[in-house]
Amino acid sequence: MKPTQVLNPVMHEIMGETGFTYLAIVKKLIREGRDVVSFGIGQPDFPTPAHIREAAKKALDEGFTGYTETAGIPELREAISEYLSRYGKVSPDEIIVTTGAKTAVFIALAAFLRPGDELLIPDPSYYAYSQVAKFVGAKPVFVPMDFHEGEGFSIDIEKFEKAITDKTRGIVVNNPHNPTGTVLTPEETDAIMELARKHNLVVFVDEIYDNFVFHGARFKSFLEYDDWRDHVVYVNGFSKTFSMTGWRLGYLVAREDVIPRLLDLAVSVYSCAPSFAQKAAIEALRGDWGPVREMIREFERRAKRLYEILSEAPGIEAYLPKGAFYMFPRVKKLLDKTGMDVHQLVDKLLYEYYVLVLPGTSFPGELGKDYVRFSFATSIEDIEKGAKRIVEAAKNMMET
Ligand code: PLP
Repeated sequence: MKPTQVLNPVMHEIMGETGFTYLAIVKKLIREGRDVVSFGIGQPDFPTPAHIREAAKKALDEGFTGYTETAGIPELREAISEYLSRYGKVSPDEIIVTTGAKTAVFIALAAFLRPGDELLIPDPSYYAYSQVAKFVGAKPVFVPMDFHEGEGFSIDIEKFEKAITDKTRGIVVNNPHNPTGTVLTPEETDAIMELARKHNLVVFVDEIYDNFVFHGARFKSFLEYDDWRDHVVYVNGFSKTFSMTGWRLGYLVAREDVIPRLLDLAVSVYSCAPSFAQKAAIEALRGDWGPVREMIREFERRAKRLYEILSEAPGIEAYLPKGAFYMFPRVKKLLDKTGMDVHQLVDKLLYEYYVLVLPGTSFPGELGKDYVRFSFATSIEDIEKGAKRIVEAAKNMMET
């Protein structure tokens, strides 16, 4: 018997995160002396602000290194509740601190989805939602977003309503959106909430990019609805806003009466989030937001610069993203012209032009095969260098 045959068969349906695979490849190429520009994995290139790092050091020096409450230390849950009060009323007892937003996604979906349930997910999507759904025996149902040339993506609420069956348990909303950089209008957010009320759905909300909203876009949180407790299970975290990806800190918000059950699952998965990192997270929320604001201004500038340069690339349908730090341009014309699939295109760009973008297929659904994702969480110099290489590559491919 092959060793893999002893795995739960569902394990063969789970996909990993392509961003991490390419991260390893890029690191290897750089070690070999290649000058690679990466638009790959989504992590801010800024260091964690100094005052946050200092708070972690202080906690370590004071010996704050043991287990904590699974829900997170009370002061951090209070600080999160204060932060979320910009949106709505959330009590510290409705919050669980997790090891990154990813763990919050896992706990939320695994705790609410039942085998056979259907989960509506916008296509394209951050990869983790459908993996967890499959893992617990639920069925991801992808609802395509609409692509508008020069403008980017939007959702069509009617498509979501049409996809609802008597098995539909919930709907995933990631706003601002990875991988497209879409920010839902408040009217679209209202329409989704209305759908949840009408069909009695759980809205699994991932607002990890809530601070990355640019160019005057209007963002409305799902915690702004007075009845959020009836429908919303909410995820957010520290990785992106405070450039703390390696600290592994996120949180989940749900109505208070389900929290003890969720904690029973959480304690089995990770016991608690790192203790000294939790102390630092209090400083992140209550301390100086200056560095965060500066980083966000910089990302807005980068979005524009990337768009300006990519607009000159034939076969690449660029647009100005309104949020997160991603652009997901259509490259179908390039693929049609060259006969390549998107993986071959990505490999050609990486190994011949030394610039990494992620294949759209890394983002589950059907649409991704015609798109690539750019993360512009990289320096303006690298954006200019990398985007110009892409323009050169596109011209070479389209004009030969
Ligand atoms: N949710 C979305 C939409 C993301 O893009 C990411 C990271 O890329 C995560 C969750 C995971 O965040 P964390 O690093 O806090 O686990």
